[in-house]
Amino acid sequence: MLSQHPSDKNDVLRTKKDAFKIPEGVFYLDGNSLGVLPKNVPARVAEVVEKEWGASLIKSWNEHSWIDLPVRVGNRIGRLIGAPDGSVVACDSTSINVFKVLAAALSLRPDRKVILSDNGNFPTDLYVASGLKDLLNSGHELKIVDPEDVEAAISEDVAAVLITQVDYRTGRVHDMAGITKKAHAAGALAIWDLAHSAGAIPVDLEGAKADFAIGCGYKYLNGGPGAPAFLYVAPCHQDKVTSPITGWMGHEAPFAFDLDYRPVHGINRMTVGTPAILSLSSLYAALEVFEDVDMADIRRKSISLSELFIAEVEAKCPQLTLASPRDPEVRGSQVSFRFEEGYAVMQALIARGVIGDFRAPDVMRFGFTPLYLSHQDIVDAVSILADILATESWNRPEYKTRAKVT
Ligand SMILES: *Cc1c(COP(=O)(O)O)cnc(C)c1O
Repeated sequence: MLSQHPSDKNDVLRTKKDAFKIPEGVFYLDGNSLGVLPKNVPARVAEVVEKEWGASLIKSWNEHSWIDLPVRVGNRIGRLIGAPDGSVVACDSTSINVFKVLAAALSLRPDRKVILSDNGNFPTDLYVASGLKDLLNSGHELKIVDPEDVEAAISEDVAAVLITQVDYRTGRVHDMAGITKKAHAAGALAIWDLAHSAGAIPVDLEGAKADFAIGCGYKYLNGGPGAPAFLYVAPCHQDKVTSPITGWMGHEAPFAFDLDYRPVHGINRMTVGTPAILSLSSLYAALEVFEDVDMADIRRKSISLSELFIAEVEAKCPQLTLASPRDPEVRGSQVSFRFEEGYAVMQALIARGVIGDFRAPDVMRFGFTPLYLSHQDIVDAVSILADILATESWNRPEYKTRAKVT
């Protein structure tokens, strides 16, 4: 399709698409779940494998600064989320990092027993919080309220609020500065999950005075499947908390091999074991594309793409119901629509190159990644969606069989 949408002409991010490998004929609306492959990544990973691991072997920990890679990646991510150098580290998975920062937060509020979250949170965060509460076995309660009731539920018995900023199903955005302020006024701490925020919307952890944050490396940051996650600890807390998993990488002197644990000064104390150098190298290279990008430009284009998507879908696909907030100010970089047979429609879409995903029970989810999507892509993708709905070509048994991953 050769037409060009007028909004693409003045798009300051339009050349960024060349930095990504996107298969011919694919409209990728799932960068919120697994980002696409940045073109510089394969060569960089090959170099780490062949030249660093292959030739320099174990010397690479020093010669190629492998040992500092978790913090170097963290600093690149920090610039996207308003965190100063040395306050973010890339390690482990988001789920594990939830465990670590929540335990750290609870240790700072020993007299309080409530962990407050909401039912729009991603289930892994709630599962981990519940597991930690059981493990601690000291009377903690996991209180789960409706998203709009979070602020009102912050009381003097809350130790920490554990909130995902952008709802994974609807894209609804929580007010980070407002909730954090409310939490602090009540003496509680604020932990933010930025899985659907980092690289998608401007985040100002320092400005909002957030206490802790975590997030994914494989979504909008394009680090690759299972890429290391990240973790932020506000500088004022760093030396007051320790990781509940006191591994040697968080030790003051790992190579002294002392028998007692003494946490290192700074963010590294939240790390546990040997860093995953190949995945970290992939994530570090993937973050290069963001180096000269202003998150305000990403946000502007993201809103423009999602507004266009909603307008096109509502004009051409009357069968679908908007599940995301209509106000772009409180919507992240994704739009969801409800349709009873949404799973089958999504499979039919994927078969025609429009890749989004599905979240039970009936949510079709479309992510917008301004670095590699154009307005014309949106128009073309919606015309395929409209055709599938109008012809009911989704109504085939092979589109209704649920795969393991949806
Ligand atoms: C994607 C996502 C996760 C995933 O956690 P993993 O440990 O990487 O599987 C966690 N929290 C939120 C809010 C997410 O959206």
